[in-house]
Amino acid sequence: MSDKKNYGFQTRCIHGHGHVSDGRWRTARPVSCPIVQTSTFAFESAEHGAAIFAGENDGFLYTRLGNPTQEALECRMAALEGGEAALALASGMAACTTAVLTLCGSGDHIVSGDTLYGGTHQLFTHTLPRLGIAVAEVDATDPANFERAITPATKLLYVETPANPTLVLTDLPAVAAIASRHGIPLLVDNTFCTPVLQRPLEMGADIVLHSATKYIGGHGDAIAGILVGSSEFITRARFETLRDIGGCISPFNAWLLIRGLKTLAVRVRQHGENAMTVAKWLQKHPKVTRVIYPGLPTHPQHELAKRQQAGFGGLISFLIAGGRDAGRTVMNSVELCTLAVSLGDVDTLIEHPATMTHSTYSEEDLLRVGIDPAMVRLSVGLEDPEDIIADLEQAFARI
Ligand SMILES: *Cc1c(COP(=O)(O)O)cnc(C)c1O
Repeated sequence: MSDKKNYGFQTRCIHGHGHVSDGRWRTARPVSCPIVQTSTFAFESAEHGAAIFAGENDGFLYTRLGNPTQEALECRMAALEGGEAALALASGMAACTTAVLTLCGSGDHIVSGDTLYGGTHQLFTHTLPRLGIAVAEVDATDPANFERAITPATKLLYVETPANPTLVLTDLPAVAAIASRHGIPLLVDNTFCTPVLQRPLEMGADIVLHSATKYIGGHGDAIAGILVGSSEFITRARFETLRDIGGCISPFNAWLLIRGLKTLAVRVRQHGENAMTVAKWLQKHPKVTRVIYPGLPTHPQHELAKRQQAGFGGLISFLIAGGRDAGRTVMNSVELCTLAVSLGDVDTLIEHPATMTHSTYSEEDLLRVGIDPAMVRLSVGLEDPEDIIADLEQAFARI
């Protein structure tokens, strides 16, 4: 932009020196990934813009469909999960809806594990049926249940392992073999394990989903979701479903996740170590009647956890003598732990699935899938484990 001083004051406010088209911007090499906080991208010419819209040029056009900060996150996530491509979205639920609507339409059918994040269960039992998509929820501890529920209309197998909040596992290679025999894609919600502990694509799954709100971001400050899969699937998810439904991630949240990824491996390992310490302490406590943690030999699928996971994660569910009232006392008495939903934060979070994250399940369904009305879920954070234990100890003393 030549001779800026001839412009009026208001024009100079918008187009003055220091604009991204200036030379020093073009040669800057920032070490931290820049936040490209823009909604739209300038075309070099009308022909260039038309070529991008026609798909003949892979330049950026509009942040709903792609942005350099989003792309940096997507490239990292694809590499970590071992997939061809990835798509970052506004939330875990946006990722779930985008995946389902890319693969299914009215008249189609999904077979899913029956223990799911409460929002996913609500989508499957309430919203998808309204769109003519039927979902059969099956006991995912026996892979044969998936095969038995498949119909000619089945377009997707859906698994969450370990499942929220019962920490029930699904044998991924076994379900992947069924999926491939029937030519149906298998989607795995890998939120609890992250690619540090479990890589579903290497075990035969086709799509991985994350609520990146949890361990990927890791600091409790951003809502986001990720899909990883084949280039063909991700291209359709981006240019068909995301384009129409619109659940895109903001460049700033993408940047927060890129920063989170830098410490993902050390955080997830430490969450697991802390959780193991807390789980062993809970198991010995006289007021605790049951501890559910895949890392304990008492977990019914401990051997499967050792086989398909490289560690056991940071989530523990437990039951207290005195049931629901005793659980309520503990949740109201903690001082260091925070009474809040979500998980995977550096802060330890405690919550009551039956009335909070899984209140979308009917009383009957809670019991059927093993979510005890008295179950307490603990997302073990990165505080010193002795302090987490001391906090629970003083809370248990108030029962
Ligand atoms: C939180 C969560 C989701 C939903 O993710 P949002 O980012 O809250 O939309 C999906 N799956 C699992 C396992 C979760 O924990």
